Amino acid sequence: MPSSTRADGALRMNHHRVREMMGELRVAPGRRFRLKDADPGWVGAKEMRGLGKDKLKKRAKAYLAQTVDELARAQELLYANDVYSVLVIFQAMDAAGKDGTIKHVMSGVNPQGCQVFSFKRPSDEDLDHDFLWRYATRLPERGRIGIFNRSYYEEVLVVRVHPELLDRQKLPPGRRGRSFWTERYEDINNFERHLARNGTLIVKFFLNVSKHEQKRRFLERLDNPEKHWKFSAADVAEREHWDRYMEAYEDMLRATSTRWAPWYVVPADHKFLTHAMVARILAEHIHALGLKHPKTSPGQQAALAAARRKLLRK
Ligand code: ATP
Ligand code: MG
Repeated sequence: MPSSTRADGALRMNHHRVREMMGELRVAPGRRFRLKDADPGWVGAKEMRGLGKDKLKKRAKAYLAQTVDELARAQELLYANDVYSVLVIFQAMDAAGKDGTIKHVMSGVNPQGCQVFSFKRPSDEDLDHDFLWRYATRLPERGRIGIFNRSYYEEVLVVRVHPELLDRQKLPPGRRGRSFWTERYEDINNFERHLARNGTLIVKFFLNVSKHEQKRRFLERLDNPEKHWKFSAADVAEREHWDRYMEAYEDMLRATSTRWAPWYVVPADHKFLTHAMVARILAEHIHALGLKHPKTSPGQQAALAAARRKLLRK
C-alpha cells in the first residue's frame, strides 16, 4: 500500500510496498498456509496502521481511483492485442462484499471489454454435464476481462459442506472421502493450467470477512429498510456452518493456489481497503504481461497513408 501523499492528494505508488502487500496476501504454493493467520481486519503497510479510519478511507479511495484509471488503460491494451484474456475469480462468505468490489474495481473499464457472471445453484442442464462444464461456457474471450462472481470453486466449498448436493450431480458410484476432493482440486489445477497455457491470465480472490463483521452487516441489512432486499434468511442459516466453510476454504486455498493461478486472501472487514487491494493486485498482474500497443506493419502503414490522402482529397 502507498506510504505517502502528494500535495494534490494523489498517492505515489510505492512498488516496494505493493510487492510486500501482494506477498503478504498471496497463498504461496507449497508453503504452509493457515486461514487463522490471515487477519480480516489487516490494514496493510506499517504506516497505514496508525491512521484513523477517516484518513485510511480517504487514502484508500484516492489509491483506488488511480488504479482504476490504470486498469482502464490496461484493458485497452488487452483488447488491442487480442491475445490474452483475464479471468478474475471471487469467492467469499455472504456479505463479504463481492458485489461492491466488482462494482468499484471495474468502474473505469469499458463495459464492452468486460463480462461478469454470477453462478448460483446449478440447473438440471448443468447437472447433466461434468462439474466444470457450465463455467467453461462462460470463459472470457481473448482481449476481455471475465469476472466470475462465485465459480467452479463452489464445487469444493458449498458442495463439500453440504455433501447431499453431490447426490444431484449424477456421478458414477464411488467413495466420497478425502481423495474425491483431492481429485477435484487436481482437475481444477489442470483446467486452469490448460487455460493459462492458452493465454488466460487467472487471478483469484478470497474476500476474507470475519464472522463478527458478517453479523454486523447482516444486522445492518435488517435495520435499514433500503437494505432489506439484500437480506436473505438462508445466509443466516449458512452462517451456522461457518467453521466447516473455513475448513473447506483452507483446504481449497492450500491445494489450488498455483504459479499459474494464484489465490489472494484479501482482508474484507474494511470495504474500502478490499477494493483498493483487489484493484492493485489485478493491475499488477495485467502489467506483468508486458503488453504494448500493437505495431503497424509497413503494409498497414501504407494503407493508413493512402486512407489519409483519400480523406484529404474531398
Ligand atoms: P447475492 O446474495 O449478493 O445476490 P450470491 O452469490 O450470494 O449473491 P445467491 O443467489 O444469494 O447469490 O446465492 C447463490 C447460492 O448458490 C449460494 O448459496 C451458493 O453457495 C450456491 N451455489 C453456487 N454454485 C453452486 C454449486 N455449484 N452447487 C451448489 N450451490 C451452488
Ligand atoms: Mg447471497
